[in-house]
Amino acid sequence: MKLFIKFIFLTLLFSCSENYVYENKLEFDVKNLSDDKYEGREAGKNGEKEAAKYIESRFKEIGLLPKGTEEFIQPFNFKNSSNPHSRATIAEDNSDGLISSNVIGFIDNKSETTVVFGAHYDHLGFGNSSSLSSEKEIHNGADDNASGIAIILDLASKLINIDASNNYLFIAFGAEELGLLGSNYFNKYPTVDLEFINYMFNFDMVGRLNDQNNLAIYGTGTSPIFKQTILSNNKEFKITEHESGQGPSDHTSFYLSDIPVLHFFTGQHSEYHKPTDDFELINFEGLEKISNYIIELVDDLDDNGKLKFKKTRDENSRMSPKFSVTLGVMPDYLFDGKGMKIDGVSSDKPAEKGGILKGDIVIQIDKYDIENMMSYMETLSKFKKGDKVTVSVLRNSKIEKINIEF
Ligand SMILES: [Zn+2]
Repeated sequence: MKLFIKFIFLTLLFSCSENYVYENKLEFDVKNLSDDKYEGREAGKNGEKEAAKYIESRFKEIGLLPKGTEEFIQPFNFKNSSNPHSRATIAEDNSDGLISSNVIGFIDNKSETTVVFGAHYDHLGFGNSSSLSSEKEIHNGADDNASGIAIILDLASKLINIDASNNYLFIAFGAEELGLLGSNYFNKYPTVDLEFINYMFNFDMVGRLNDQNNLAIYGTGTSPIFKQTILSNNKEFKITEHESGQGPSDHTSFYLSDIPVLHFFTGQHSEYHKPTDDFELINFEGLEKISNYIIELVDDLDDNGKLKFKKTRDENSRMSPKFSVTLGVMPDYLFDGKGMKIDGVSSDKPAEKGGILKGDIVIQIDKYDIENMMSYMETLSKFKKGDKVTVSVLRNSKIEKINIEF
């Protein structure tokens, strides 16, 4: 399919004759979406609504066709839970007065199958219960997830003039931070036939590519063709693969509709869910590298027809195990060794109080061995508040035993 790639370059060179001239606006889009004027794009608030209007205007500018229920917009009602430990839900009516929206644009290549590119655009406003900061400040969410929206806009700009064997659907999801509400709603009320969605790529936090070019890809087990496609097109990334199609972002909603999914992620950082997740820390060259890589993957998959879907191992657990305690640490999602590596420690939580440090690798909690993230979460679900346990961590290749109280 190298013809397709060549055609992209031709289009980029000679696109004056086309209706849309490709222009790299990655930086422009991230900067605008993470501006204070959107007040952290909190679901149901005016800032989220204004951000949706901006995305709609960019979809129009690129030349996408509207594929929402009100032109590009697909609004939905939701209600907050009265229980602080459970999350918001989609609502049948508008009795709580809370409305969020997906923004949906389409490239019609007159094909039977459609590829979905998705990213959420909402964030935490002035800091809701998912904030890791005690400050009431605007959480601009430049990485989470202005970066993902910028990528799907860039992909749309590149794919608009290309003839391909799939149609392309671009969805900016609302209310992800409250529990994947927008993507959930779309899968309940899809605006294209779900049966003919070929695969879905999700971009959530792709703006912080590091010097080692570490890129995490989730969902690699959801279609038999993904692994070889990911590897054979990779020139510059150090890729960490995760097979499961379920995770804490919008691809999960599509996976549960039996659609092959991949989620791209440049990794956790200490500004995660804090007011300091700002524009200045975004790696724009990295965003461009990822966008170009995605074009190669899409090109390679173009002549493969409808991809086979495969359920991944954790299909029965449906969601992560429920737990009532927390260590107060941020896992390093790029770590693929044995144990759970810590990328950050929240202040005033059990881990910090006991003396656990960033960089420690948790290998045992109480009598339970920690093999990976999943066994870490399973183990946490066995404890309740007030329990005292010993946590074994690897620090500078030595085992340290640390006593903590949940
Ligand atoms: Zn996110």
